[in-house]
Amino acid sequence: MQPLSRYLQIVSGAARPRYLAARSIGVDVPSSLEGRWKEHSAAVKRSRTLSDDAISPMAPSLLDLKASLARSHMNSCSLCPWRCGADRESGRRGRCGVTRPRVVSAFTHLGEEAPLVPSYTVFFAGCNLRCAFCQNYDLSTMPDRGAEPSAEELAKDLDAIAERKGIKNINWVGGDPIPALPYVLEVLRMMEADIAQIWNSNMYLEESSMHLLDGVIDVYLTDLKFGNDDCARRLCGAPDYSAVVRRNHIIAAAQGEVLVRHLQLPGHLECCTLPLIDWLAENLPGAAVNLMDQYRPEHRAYEHPELHRPLSREEHMRALEHARDRGLFLI
Ligand code: SF4
Repeated sequence: MQPLSRYLQIVSGAARPRYLAARSIGVDVPSSLEGRWKEHSAAVKRSRTLSDDAISPMAPSLLDLKASLARSHMNSCSLCPWRCGADRESGRRGRCGVTRPRVVSAFTHLGEEAPLVPSYTVFFAGCNLRCAFCQNYDLSTMPDRGAEPSAEELAKDLDAIAERKGIKNINWVGGDPIPALPYVLEVLRMMEADIAQIWNSNMYLEESSMHLLDGVIDVYLTDLKFGNDDCARRLCGAPDYSAVVRRNHIIAAAQGEVLVRHLQLPGHLECCTLPLIDWLAENLPGAAVNLMDQYRPEHRAYEHPELHRPLSREEHMRALEHARDRGLFLI
């Protein structure tokens, strides 16, 4: 099957977005956490077989259950592998620095990959990784930027925008949307628009957080950055990057469709780019892949001599050639 084929059906009106199916599955809400997770996995299975004709809001729904499971992270956050335990609702900060999620900007984006454009992007402040070369550091390192629209306000805005502007998707991004996952689910509980949902993320999140996204997200638009843990540790501080992010890509491909972005770093062809291409060829043959050549030295790139220059044309050409040889679907 062509990558993103279900997404394209949603865009053309031939299929419904997953989050509307999650709103249409009725659930019990047991009092115990264990009971709620058990109910959650049974309901996610039911949502996979729900026909588009059966989409009709239920209460409480699977999406309500997901939102209630996610909400507990606002008091003791373990959404990602840092597992800070921060009471973010009370203003405590974990590694990402995000307390209550803040929206820095939301606008129609024309610069994403062609099948996604026009995309309505919602940018959150803050990020759970610390990439020395961050190309968006004005968002990722400033978790207090932006405003705190209520979930109800944003849901209303997004429903209206989906109607008026004919945009193709809602694109949750940052910084990174991971610390905002409870808020995103709250917004989706209140939305009604027939519009695809995109999770645009570094994918450094816990497996249980991936389960909360299951049955909600149509396309994972991912950043796959490093081909080994030494580079990851040195450049973004995450010691277990490869195991976590690769696991989550495999889960994402089982849950929905995946468009992988790899920002090629200068001097990292042999250690990162080529091994990642090989890994994608072996593990994610159905994904669309964007090998990005627009790296520019930003943020703390000056701390790493190999990152002082742009990517060379030769490095990019070698990556493209290897990706074509390995049969990747390049976008
Ligand atoms: S999302 Fe932020 S507060 Fe929560 S575990 Fe990750 S880094 Fe810590």
